[in-house]
Amino acid sequence: MKAILDHVGIAVQDIDKALAFYRDALGLEVEAAEDVESQRVRAHIIPTGQGALELLEATAPDSPIARYVDKRGPGIHHVTLRVEDVRATLDHLRARGVRLIDEQPRPGAQSSLIAFIHPSASHGVLVELKQHASASVTLASRRLPWGDLELVSVHDGVFRLDGGAMFGVVPRPEWEAQATPDDRHRIPLGIRPLVVEADWGRMIIDCGVGDKMSVDERDRYGLDRARHLDHALADVGLHADAIDLVLATHLHFDHIGGATVRERDALTPRFPRARYLVRAAEWEDATHPHARSRASYRPDDFLPLAEAGVVDFHGRDGEIRAGVRVVRTGGHCPEHQIVFLESAGKTAVFVADLIPTTAHVRDAWIMGYDLFPMETLAYKTRFIREAIDREYLIFFEHDPRVSAGYIREEQGRRYVEQVL
Ligand SMILES: [Zn+2]
Repeated sequence: MKAILDHVGIAVQDIDKALAFYRDALGLEVEAAEDVESQRVRAHIIPTGQGALELLEATAPDSPIARYVDKRGPGIHHVTLRVEDVRATLDHLRARGVRLIDEQPRPGAQSSLIAFIHPSASHGVLVELKQHASASVTLASRRLPWGDLELVSVHDGVFRLDGGAMFGVVPRPEWEAQATPDDRHRIPLGIRPLVVEADWGRMIIDCGVGDKMSVDERDRYGLDRARHLDHALADVGLHADAIDLVLATHLHFDHIGGATVRERDALTPRFPRARYLVRAAEWEDATHPHARSRASYRPDDFLPLAEAGVVDFHGRDGEIRAGVRVVRTGGHCPEHQIVFLESAGKTAVFVADLIPTTAHVRDAWIMGYDLFPMETLAYKTRFIREAIDREYLIFFEHDPRVSAGYIREEQGRRYVEQVL
């Protein structure tokens, strides 16, 4: 186990007087305050090199900080240790009989996960464990030879969506065990396009969310593109110029936002040499949205492609290039399609939003976003059976940790054996 001192939390009674000392007298820099609603506190972080000080101000009379100050006066409230995996750390401590306050991680500031150890176990000091938001997400570019094809898993960063909406009718206590929500009830999701290299050229399936979101939208979707598709391509020696074909599973913004870039006042295709292949009926739906689908389709993502004359339409299921077969699933949206990659007797499938994360391998775990959940259920039930029986390698576009794996079933329990 490795733990690093993250910060020391100080309960304050009067934030103005505390700032007069720490900021004005000591001359330390104080970051913008952040409210942590679940704790009813306002945190003022003071970075001090390796660790930080955190001034904690109660925002309600029943806040744990208010109670602490009432009872013991202002002073050191807790010490926070940063760990890589807070869930695993809790398991480790529990196995050694350490008394915990939190049996499960809960949301902290800046989309982190936190848990407290009981002070009686840590010799009178309240110890907080903290896992940074990015630590729950693993993004990396990986190559995988696949018969005559080469599959290259890439990524376009991380975003966050409402946990309830991601799991539809599944009750929160059940999905929470798979994906811990932040203080805005959102769970982290990867954005993982797939590059396919073959003798006919180089294709990318979906192309991420791109760089066109406003500051407000980035905040709403918790978009973190500190490392994005350009980095991911560079990590495997590629560049946008190297892409010949962009294939869209559907035209929702988290799948096709990366197809265009804003350059000065104009929107232009992001992959300068590429043709863009889109299902004709999906183009029709995307350009004629209704109240329920409008938030997902952003004309700036795809109309500039048509204006530039780089879109090709395909009408039905079938092989679009040697070893690449598209099949409509419907469900998520009427024309949602998945991509079969077949070579040397092996099958990999890029399942897009049919099974967005490994937590969705249970038949009834279907997103609330889906327009036709019963269609999703019918297709998914049949498809997953087939995927297990025939050992399809599944690429999960939105999983926070797993790019690809095999779905296994043992005594009715399903899990994913990670490959990438
Ligand atoms: Zn999606």
